[in-house]
Amino acid sequence: MSSIDTPLKVSIVAPCYNEEEVIEEFARRAMAAGRAAAADSFELVLVDDGSRDTTWAKIEALSRENPQIVGVRLMRNHGHELASTAGIASSCGARILLIDADLQDPPELLSEMMAMMDRGADVVYGQRGIRKGESWMKLTTSALFYRLLRWLASVDIPSDTGDFRLMTRRVAELLLSMPERDRFLRGMISWIGGRQVPIVYERDERHAGTTKYSYSKLLRLALDAITGFSARPLRIASWAGVVTAFIAMALLAYTFYSFEAGWAVTGWSSTMVAITVFSAVQLITLGILGEYVGRLVQQSKGRPLFMVDRMVRGGEDVSPIDSYDMGPGRHLNPGRRDNFLP
Ligand code: UDP
Ligand code: MG
Repeated sequence: MSSIDTPLKVSIVAPCYNEEEVIEEFARRAMAAGRAAAADSFELVLVDDGSRDTTWAKIEALSRENPQIVGVRLMRNHGHELASTAGIASSCGARILLIDADLQDPPELLSEMMAMMDRGADVVYGQRGIRKGESWMKLTTSALFYRLLRWLASVDIPSDTGDFRLMTRRVAELLLSMPERDRFLRGMISWIGGRQVPIVYERDERHAGTTKYSYSKLLRLALDAITGFSARPLRIASWAGVVTAFIAMALLAYTFYSFEAGWAVTGWSSTMVAITVFSAVQLITLGILGEYVGRLVQQSKGRPLFMVDRMVRGGEDVSPIDSYDMGPGRHLNPGRRDNFLP
């Protein structure tokens, strides 16, 4: 391991959830890519996101054999975005490559991404050209989602990108200084700005195993993205309220008129239509409000973003701290810094 005054050139950070089938092959390819791109000046941070299979046992074994591999085990499943955040917080390289552990994103691109960063980029993000092995349903919903997000959000989030990206330490620290719990990393990184350049690549099929993203997790991520980057749905809700209020006034006038005219008894269908339409609009509006308020409540509790159970660095156990305060003045992760102090 290099000493404290020569920081590692790059940290490769991968969140892993039930990835026992691919983790070893991933580590092999990521290590080879690190060696090719940064000689020996790199580390591979594998974050086990509370897996229920043998993923942690494998990560632990890898990190004991190889001092360049850092193993981090979270207390429980925190989800992709928080596991990635934990990995970034535990890393110490001058640059950070965020990559999925399932080998859908080729680690071999690291050399080219490093070269692009040498030419001045702050972030090099992977943009998917061809996507193999994704269902028709997933491709359509993802295309629709990006279009919706671009329309709603005030920040320009490039389409067809995942979390596969190389960023400078500065961008990573800015990212860690953002305290939000509901993290949509690719949006947050776009929001930081600076020089962000794409690298187009072919997204492979998963090397093995199945997707760890259920549709409900994807929906949650989509809602996090929208509520995290736009207040527009609230405005749409208000407008829907205004429009339906006008319709309601017209209906009211019509009701009085019918009463006066003496044919008020009929009209069951119009009543039903009015009730259905108004209840639907109200429920949708409440739902939208709920999405924001719920996040506000979670955020106001100020709980740690993630909890680390165990950590192996340089082939040895290091004690992780219990809580991670993100945002300004956060505790630095001693698992990262203290171990580099003499
Ligand atoms: N992942 C995670 N925690 C989760 C779900 C996923 O750390 O709760 C990791 C997973 O191990 C993988 C990456 O996030 O490395 C992307 O997940 P996946 O490949 O299942 O998503 P997809 O590519 O199908 O969108
Ligand atoms: Mg995948």
